[in-house]
Amino acid sequence: MSDKQFPPAFPAKNEDFVEYVPARNWIGGEWRDATTGKTLPVDNPRWAKDFSSVPLSGAEDVDLAVQAAQRAFTTWSRRPMRERAQIFFKLRELMERDVEELSWLVVHENGKTYGEAKASVLKGIECVEFGASLPNSGGSGEELEVSRGVVCKEIHEPLGVVAGVTPFNFPVMVPLWMLPQAIVGGNTFVLKPSERVPLGAMKLAALFSEAGLPDGVFNIVNGAADVVNALCDHPKIRAMAFVGSTKVAKHVYGRGAATGKTMLCLGGAKNHLILVPDADVKVTAENVAASFTGCAGQRCMAASVLVAVGDVSHVMDAVVAKAKTLRTGKDIGPIITKQASDRIRRYIDEAEKAGAKVIVDGRQQKGNDEGHWVGPTIIDGVTPEMGAWKDEIFGPVLSVVHVKNLDEAIALENSNPYGNASCIYTTSGAVADYVTRRVEAGMVGVNVGVPVPREPFGFGGWNDSKFGHGNLTGIDGFHFWTRPRKVTVKWELQQDANWMS
Ligand code: NAD
Repeated sequence: MSDKQFPPAFPAKNEDFVEYVPARNWIGGEWRDATTGKTLPVDNPRWAKDFSSVPLSGAEDVDLAVQAAQRAFTTWSRRPMRERAQIFFKLRELMERDVEELSWLVVHENGKTYGEAKASVLKGIECVEFGASLPNSGGSGEELEVSRGVVCKEIHEPLGVVAGVTPFNFPVMVPLWMLPQAIVGGNTFVLKPSERVPLGAMKLAALFSEAGLPDGVFNIVNGAADVVNALCDHPKIRAMAFVGSTKVAKHVYGRGAATGKTMLCLGGAKNHLILVPDADVKVTAENVAASFTGCAGQRCMAASVLVAVGDVSHVMDAVVAKAKTLRTGKDIGPIITKQASDRIRRYIDEAEKAGAKVIVDGRQQKGNDEGHWVGPTIIDGVTPEMGAWKDEIFGPVLSVVHVKNLDEAIALENSNPYGNASCIYTTSGAVADYVTRRVEAGMVGVNVGVPVPREPFGFGGWNDSKFGHGNLTGIDGFHFWTRPRKVTVKWELQQDANWMS
């Protein structure tokens, strides 16, 4: 069954439980159910209750979306880039108009606090702004007279039908890491949102349509691994970006590349913060606490390990005091699923059993009697053999490891296989510089625990946090979704001919 009727505005304006319409696929400008007929409930993690459902599509649905995207490609790609960018100016306006609705949608499907949800939507708007600015910045290509009378120019051309797969933790923002550069670049897009949070993307489809994006330029196929594998295998998809856990990122990277696609897959993280004795106590306490508890620790930039260099107990006392003031339900949202909250508590239990000390214990904290909650937790004396040091816990848990000097701290940080973010807390420029140049991380903060590069700087980690080249946002994203054509032009025979004449 298909129709063009847009879903009603999301009704919630607070955290009270509401039911909402089922998510559907968006293909060629029509809402469709999956051809498989299968659906999955969508849970509101704050209330541990289903409030919507999501189609579990299959390869046939992917093919329908690719066909719709192919049909739209010729006309869309031939429009001037400036015209394509106009859609994003309009989208920005509509997102500003509906910023409250988008934010509450994120609160309900993901569980973020209202403040976190709104910040993520505003960051999504920033990505839209970058896309809209492409014709005036790096998107316009380059031209140079390379020899007398000979001009070389580089034009960034679209690839065709491209695809993106996104995780549960930022339902509106992460799709907008991909869509502006890809669509302003002239491609047509198939998005597979996380099956846990399909509603933000559905709202984006409605806003894109209202902004005037032609049918088929943006499509959504909902579902789980089957859809991702079908996207990887589809011969007509030319490039694919993925954001999610490292295990799946690696799988998707290999499977997509096997069919000749250009791939960029961002994976998980285990971010280390290095704390030295001269750190500013107040700045550090506020910042460390925000870094490991923000979004309930469910972000790839969250602090996970604090490497304490020498005697930093005066700073740690302030970090602990700050963490103890934070309350689930008010300052910290729920964990996405019961399995995830059980997994987080298991890591804390195991570290404690192996000899670490739980100095802030969030295991029993709740926001209400129903949702999936874990409060802020600090585990002191974590050693590299423990799961709490090795694995991405993805919850509001900070593992503290003690070392004697800076080189030991850097060596410890660099021995973990991930490379998303790292941070140094210090008041010394020389120490900051020393650490910044040596840590194996694509995004480094100095007294900034969540060093997300704002636009126009590109977002992307190193090592097991990313498979593929370059960053997903910023101008790298535009280059990922386009291919450069080099044109060399001459109109007259020159007297002083050289090899390029
Ligand atoms: P996930 O890997 O479980 O899922 C991500 C996407 O992959 C979803 O759309 C899901 O349906 C799909 N998927 C899941 N299992 C699959 C499989 N076996 N085969 C094919 N596709 C599959 O990740 P998640 O739990 O949704 O999100 C959390 C993870 O994402 C964390 O590891 C976090 O660090 C990471 N993340 C990374 C970044 C980054 O920029 N590096 C940003 C956000 C989240």
